[in-house]
Amino acid sequence: MVLASYINPLSEEGRNIVRGLGGLDDIFNRDDNLIDIVIHTNRQTVSNQEAVPETLVDLAINRIKWYIERKNNKEFNSNDYAYFFNEQMLEYDTIAFHILAQAIANKFRPGSREVKLFIESQGLMIEDRLTKMPFNEKKEIVEEILSDLLIRDGIEWSFLKDLVGSKKLSLTDLVLQNGEIVLDREEFVYSFGDKFADRSPERVYDILIGDNLRQLILTKLLMQNTENYIKSIQDQLAIVEMHPAIVKLGDMLETEIDETLSKYSTFYASGGAYGNMEIGKLVREAFPPCIANTVAGVSSGGRNDAIVLLLTSFVSYARLYPGIFGSDRTVKVSDIDTNLNITLNEILPLIYEAADNCTPPFFEDQPQEKVTIISKLGFGMHEEVNLENEGETKWYTPMSCEKIKMHLPQLCKENKDCAKINNPLSYYSRKKWIMSKNGEFNKDSTDESASTTDESSSK
Ligand code: SF4
Repeated sequence: MVLASYINPLSEEGRNIVRGLGGLDDIFNRDDNLIDIVIHTNRQTVSNQEAVPETLVDLAINRIKWYIERKNNKEFNSNDYAYFFNEQMLEYDTIAFHILAQAIANKFRPGSREVKLFIESQGLMIEDRLTKMPFNEKKEIVEEILSDLLIRDGIEWSFLKDLVGSKKLSLTDLVLQNGEIVLDREEFVYSFGDKFADRSPERVYDILIGDNLRQLILTKLLMQNTENYIKSIQDQLAIVEMHPAIVKLGDMLETEIDETLSKYSTFYASGGAYGNMEIGKLVREAFPPCIANTVAGVSSGGRNDAIVLLLTSFVSYARLYPGIFGSDRTVKVSDIDTNLNITLNEILPLIYEAADNCTPPFFEDQPQEKVTIISKLGFGMHEEVNLENEGETKWYTPMSCEKIKMHLPQLCKENKDCAKINNPLSYYSRKKWIMSKNGEFNKDSTDESASTTDESSSK
């Protein structure tokens, strides 16, 4: 059976592998044994030289590149990275995980895009590895690691609150015993067997806690442990100086992550008759009447809803992800605007400009509404957009025409382009497409007033 560190490099066994490494001086050196295992991995392609690691550092960097490509590249070839699923790579991979964690922890701050990428990459690596395992082997290893984690850490019910949002799955009623989750089949049958008069408790166990949920819990637990590991390294940095090889790896990662992500900074979604909806600078001339009227300023009656709900969602999606309604993917602002430069320099200034145009100016008597705007962009209830807080709230999607007509009827001054439109974003994409076809705007043109950071209004 495969060793636990294949799934959990933070296990005792994984840490022993790292202890066996000795020093870090050789991690930049070519390792012929590593190359040999990689190129002899089943189905491994060798034509993509970039994906074939020659050193431990290459392998660590490729762990992150694999994740970015796997998530974003529509033509992703899993055989380019087949070696990540070769159990013979276990020792190298475990070491790569640990030096990567140290480099990320040393170079990037907690909650940064890079820390998140690393944690998410580990989650996806675990999922993919489990998926590729034979059924019985998978069952055994999940069992072994979960038991180990449960014995060492215990799991409180609150851990599952994000994992199990469905009220149909009444975990709080059925699989908790004295505040601890019951994941073990025998324990479940022992604890709750008498509660099922008309069906077998084993069957209920399979439905409620079956293999998928156990795998999900395992993956999330290991991701949490990875995050804790990063934090513990960062805490130690106050007293211990990082090895120069790890510092160098951190610098390399910064460049590699930027370069790999930049390939996917353009999000597309089918726009049907209007081609693909590519992100691009805001074109005010393509705004529908309801949005143009909001930017021009709203009187006190509908100010809050117009600025906070209508304009904030419209401007952010129009600028970053106009194809949201034609896409089935869940996105965050930072998936597209990785350093939040567009949000800070284009989106927020336009919203604040519209707020200033209101009568009376919106923030003059309601300064707290800036926090609500930040929350509608997905960055929680804070005064500034900050990557660390992203995900605390949801990125609010644009209002439909129907809702606008119902709640903000004074802003909807339909024109001929509103025909058959059910959302201001669709209007915008269509109008932009028509304007572009007629040569009425250059794709690379900028919205000057919006792209200049207005110090006075962006605070
Ligand atoms: S019909 Fe829709 S897009 Fe047109 S002005 Fe009214 S709300 Fe805006």
